[in-house]
Amino acid sequence: SPASARPHVLLLCSPCMGHLIPFAELARRLVADHGLGATLLFAAATDTPSEQYASVAASVPDGVKLVALPAPPTLPSTAAVRERTVHAAVSSVRHVREIAQSLTSAAPLAALVVDMVSVPARDVASELGVPCYMFFTSPWMLLSLFLHLPEIDAGLVGEYRDATEPIWLPGCVPIHAHELPGSLLVGRSSDSHAGFLSVAKDTSRVDGILVNTFGALEPAVGDGMDGVAELPVHAVGPLVWTRPVSVNRDHSHVIRWLDQQPSGSVVYLSFGSGGTLTLRQTTELALALEMTHRRFVWVVKRPDEDTASGAFFGTRRGEDDDDELGFLPRGFLQRTSGVGLVLPSWAPQTAILAHASVGCFVTHCGWNSSLESILNGVPMVAWPLYAEQKMNATMLEVQAGVAVRIHADADGFFSMEEIAGVIRRLMDEEEGAGMRKRICELRDKAKQALTKHGSSALGLAHIANTWTASCSEK
Ligand code: UDP
Repeated sequence: SPASARPHVLLLCSPCMGHLIPFAELARRLVADHGLGATLLFAAATDTPSEQYASVAASVPDGVKLVALPAPPTLPSTAAVRERTVHAAVSSVRHVREIAQSLTSAAPLAALVVDMVSVPARDVASELGVPCYMFFTSPWMLLSLFLHLPEIDAGLVGEYRDATEPIWLPGCVPIHAHELPGSLLVGRSSDSHAGFLSVAKDTSRVDGILVNTFGALEPAVGDGMDGVAELPVHAVGPLVWTRPVSVNRDHSHVIRWLDQQPSGSVVYLSFGSGGTLTLRQTTELALALEMTHRRFVWVVKRPDEDTASGAFFGTRRGEDDDDELGFLPRGFLQRTSGVGLVLPSWAPQTAILAHASVGCFVTHCGWNSSLESILNGVPMVAWPLYAEQKMNATMLEVQAGVAVRIHADADGFFSMEEIAGVIRRLMDEEEGAGMRKRICELRDKAKQALTKHGSSALGLAHIANTWTASCSEK
């Protein structure tokens, strides 16, 4: 391949916004700060990429080539998110191979970077003789669980959900049974347990891992790996997407409305790109908001009775009906008019969190949302829904002291008194002020980690140099 062309990195991520967004930011930095070329492959889950995807695609910076891979053969609509994601990743390998081969004729290939479910594409890197790295878009704590899971699983008697002792990972808060990812709780003979275990085992099959976290938030990054996995792990975060991702609607009125509200007065509520509540819980949350008499911006999704991740692959059919908010309690929109804004399905989140009027964030604790909240110094009400979000919530409350967890009753339901009470604790009281102070200190450390000589920037520079050097040796 022409030695004059700059080395190129091929990045591959699975079909969810929580991966695509930080991957786009990683690619941008490799191009802008490290003199590399970057092509970002996005393994679509369905034939029609969601509006959210199209919107990120439209704002990917110059210099990063974004390619949507063809959707895999269809799975039954009952397939779970993880199953679909893994299926998309596995079926994409042959496309990755073709693209990687054609790239090498134009520029030297420096590395393949995969996400936690795309490790099967590692074979392509071996064939081409380039390193395969993982960019882990969840916290170190989950990565540590993945790395230790084969050993934990082999030693476990009975089911995870019945374990009375928490799991102690080096330097991390203990993980209690009920905080584990749902795939581990359903039962060890299930497919979903087997799938989770195989994803966990795959993490140690790469040549190195970049984690979207930073030392001041997770000081234990890389600890306790002796005898578990021999590979370099570098914290390179927090990498978040700061360009507005505006989906299908003009959201400028949201910022104009926030401009008119007093500083720190608005509660922002969102459950990520995919999180959904049941109808009963949605109603209860609406009534809780009325009860607090607080200003709010609420990104609300159509309720789903069966799963907490019902909107995961983007806007579903029917979402854009005229009557799209018809499920809210009767009269709610009228009663809260002027006090609150309800945004169906999607909001320009990073712009909202950066606004001085926002005082707290009611979040599902998706890792990107958590990092965005930290980078903007906004304390959180932690309302975890699925994946590793309960672990994130515990870490943010117990270890970092920047969130308050909301507590469910015995049926897993959050009452309006509980919701309103937690919001008030953060917005009115001394407790909230302390938390705000801590998260602002953490924000400053996060920004510091990303400056030229900060720990995360140095971590990424080190990796980029390793890739470039091994490329020019060939
Ligand atoms: N996001 C957004 N607007 C929304 C919902 C989500 O911009 O209405 C962005 C959010 O800023 C974050 C990502 O989508 O960058 C969601 O990632 P996260 O890890 O928080 O949750 P997930 O969607 O993966 O559960």
